[in-house]
Amino acid sequence: MFDSLKIKEDFPILKQTVNDEPLIYLDNAATTQKPKQVLQAVQDYYFHDNANVHRGVHTLAERATRSYEESRETVRAFINASSTKEVLFTRGTTTALNWVAKGFGDLVVEEGDEIYITPMEHHSNIVPWQQLAFRKRATLKYLPLTEDAVVDMEKAKEIISEKGKILALCHASNVMGSIHSIPRLAELIHQVGGYIVVDGAQSVPHTKVDVQALNADFFAFSGHKMCGPTGIGVLYGKQALLERMEPVEYGGEMIDFVYDETSTWTELPWKFEAGTPNIAGAIGLKAAIEYLQAIGMDEIERHEQKLMAHLMPQLSDIEGLSIYGPTDHTKRTGIVTFNLDGVHPHDLATAFDMEGIAIRAGHHCAQPLMRYLDTPATARASFYFYNSKEDVDQFVVSLKKIKEFFN
Ligand code: PLP
Repeated sequence: MFDSLKIKEDFPILKQTVNDEPLIYLDNAATTQKPKQVLQAVQDYYFHDNANVHRGVHTLAERATRSYEESRETVRAFINASSTKEVLFTRGTTTALNWVAKGFGDLVVEEGDEIYITPMEHHSNIVPWQQLAFRKRATLKYLPLTEDAVVDMEKAKEIISEKGKILALCHASNVMGSIHSIPRLAELIHQVGGYIVVDGAQSVPHTKVDVQALNADFFAFSGHKMCGPTGIGVLYGKQALLERMEPVEYGGEMIDFVYDETSTWTELPWKFEAGTPNIAGAIGLKAAIEYLQAIGMDEIERHEQKLMAHLMPQLSDIEGLSIYGPTDHTKRTGIVTFNLDGVHPHDLATAFDMEGIAIRAGHHCAQPLMRYLDTPATARASFYFYNSKEDVDQFVVSLKKIKEFFN
């Protein structure tokens, strides 16, 4: 039986008051809180095993290396990659996407080629492709969206051409809450000989992801959005593609042999991991994955769906409230982006903070999407499995109170 109140006990940070109100944390799309189990794993590593990996032969170095590589195996199994060679540790989604754009994009994109993204990408899945297009004199094209904020497949079929080399898009949106059908889009771009790069920052924390079933060529996500530490993330890539891809950073750990004038690279996955990695971060990520798995990804998804089923009907009768994204709550994750007539989203977020509720306001690192929606900014409440039905109710009570205040 899923008990979010009991689960909350694992999160020490949630037991505080903010502005004399019990904290309700609804900024999970930005970053999630960390359970004791993750904090403990990081502390244990620093208390007992701290050493650099892959270098020393002493006991601590061996323990640190073993733990770091065990984390890689945990990630592999979690996303169902076929080998640990396909799992690269990065600083986060942003680093992962930059690596693909530079290390792989530079190899396969030529002058006149086309790169496709959508209007609802996070800046970290826009700017690297803009830069690649500049470098190569390629064309960046935006695929149109449907009313439900997913790629319009019919229009995409018309736009994607033989010149298409890369389709980069989010699995789930950090603003609209909508979820793309990756296998169908993969098929489209594969038909023209291109590659699909998936930003999984907002899907991996909330649903079971199988990179092979998705048929993603590359797939990126961040540890801190799934109960893990900041500064650790993952780039998955199909082995054959990673073999071809060039490293983007050079230095220790990633070389095979350094001659006076040139060098050769070591094998996958280490060829991409130059310098001392975030060892504690990887260990924390392993603990986070184990924590999520102990609850069950299906359970997590089901609980978040229940929260949305409870929330959305309560919002529908609030006058002056605009909600962005799919109207059918079963087609969205636990993200609700909204505006209230006559109230700036920053004022909304400040008013919620006075109620002890943490939400976000602004452009959500998605300025092209704000232009698409014709609004400079929005407010966003994003739920996670440790949020309860009571949190939803308190959010609605506060929203109504804030609306009265501003009227
Ligand atoms: N992509 C999406 C959809 C996101 O929501 C985020 C973070 O908000 C990112 C990419 C960037 O993640 P990070 O800042 O962890 O690199």
